[in-house]
Amino acid sequence: MSETKKILIGLALGVIVGLGLAGLSGNVYDIVNTYILSPVGTVFLNLIKMLVVPIVFFSIILGVMGLGDPKELGRVGSKALLFFLTTTALAIILAMGVASVIKPGERGDFPTTGLEFESTSTEESSNIVQTFVNMIPTNPIQALAEGNMLQIIVFAALIGFAMIALGERAKTWRRFVKQGDRIMMHLIHLVMKLAPYGAFALIASAIGGIGLDAVKAMAWYMFAVVLTLFLHSVLVYGGALVLLGKMSPVFFFKNFYEAITLAFSTSSSNATLPVSMELAQTKLGVPRSISSFVQPLGATVNMDGTAIMQGVATIFIAQVFAADLTMTELVTVVITAVLASIGTAGVPGVGLIMLALVLQSVNLPVEGIALIIGVDRILDMLRTSVNITGDATCAVVVSKLEEKHLPPVDEDAWDEVEAK
Ligand code: ASP
Repeated sequence: MSETKKILIGLALGVIVGLGLAGLSGNVYDIVNTYILSPVGTVFLNLIKMLVVPIVFFSIILGVMGLGDPKELGRVGSKALLFFLTTTALAIILAMGVASVIKPGERGDFPTTGLEFESTSTEESSNIVQTFVNMIPTNPIQALAEGNMLQIIVFAALIGFAMIALGERAKTWRRFVKQGDRIMMHLIHLVMKLAPYGAFALIASAIGGIGLDAVKAMAWYMFAVVLTLFLHSVLVYGGALVLLGKMSPVFFFKNFYEAITLAFSTSSSNATLPVSMELAQTKLGVPRSISSFVQPLGATVNMDGTAIMQGVATIFIAQVFAADLTMTELVTVVITAVLASIGTAGVPGVGLIMLALVLQSVNLPVEGIALIIGVDRILDMLRTSVNITGDATCAVVVSKLEEKHLPPVDEDAWDEVEAK
């Protein structure tokens, strides 16, 4: 049986077992989760997370060496950012449209008093200018140790440029980086052999922990989010792939779904990076020089799935609290959610914290988040899958637009250089 089939079986069994556990009374879930699911899931998750920083680091250096010219990096970067911003704005507009039609906040009795939600980390992440200023690491080792993706991108790109400038004089480093990259890729293949078990445990644990009553009460809200995620993937990504990337969405999905299932089980764009980059490079034909730059950048700044949740949630909370949003306020939501998505880290659950920022921008009660927090884990799985699909779609589109300028990195050419 192929690896991917095994992962799908793991996912399906995880959903079934999770639902079974959620339906059982008493503390069966707690025991099974504490002693089996959580340890197995965490071991798998840590194994992939362990490889994220070295893979991104080596891969960006190699990617920049493939580009060969800072101007090209600037061009790739601006196209990617334009794509990210446009699709995120479309995502949130679509989300608000769907939520206004479905009206999840008017379908059910939701308490508007006695809710509590502490928004702790919004202040530090709210300053977008600061996000860009902070991209330059004062201490690159710290950036690597903390897994600060934007800082790693900048540091690795600069090393890449220096290596191009130094040419033969940086020969040893070139070998080191290239071999480091190969070693990490080899390890990720080994770790992915555990994916069926890891996915099973992570999903059963997540689904089992969700109260079925909460799901029932929030069914319309969840439906609106899921429907928008689906529509956005088909219309926006499907459209971009066909029109700009000249690639069939079916081909894309067939070759990329392993990364989608991984994002679904881990709820983390960052943790999915090694696999999503590898698939984009090996199966979707994206040159390494583009994939290694666009996808880590996207994992940090491009969160269409998260923006969709925030769009639906904002309208939902406005409906529950019977607050009418004016046109100006709706535009404010779009702008704040796009900026919030740039400031959202690609790790589980952050999207919900950033929602506080969006709600505050139009004076909606932040406590409204308490209503949706119970079902957020499951939506996080789905929106993370959309987030990383957006990053890969962007990589395909940019590589198509850049095709004339950017031949894929030629591995053999490097081998020849190394042999000298
Ligand atoms: N879990 C999401 C991601 O990693 C971020 C979020 O929406 O919470 O892409």
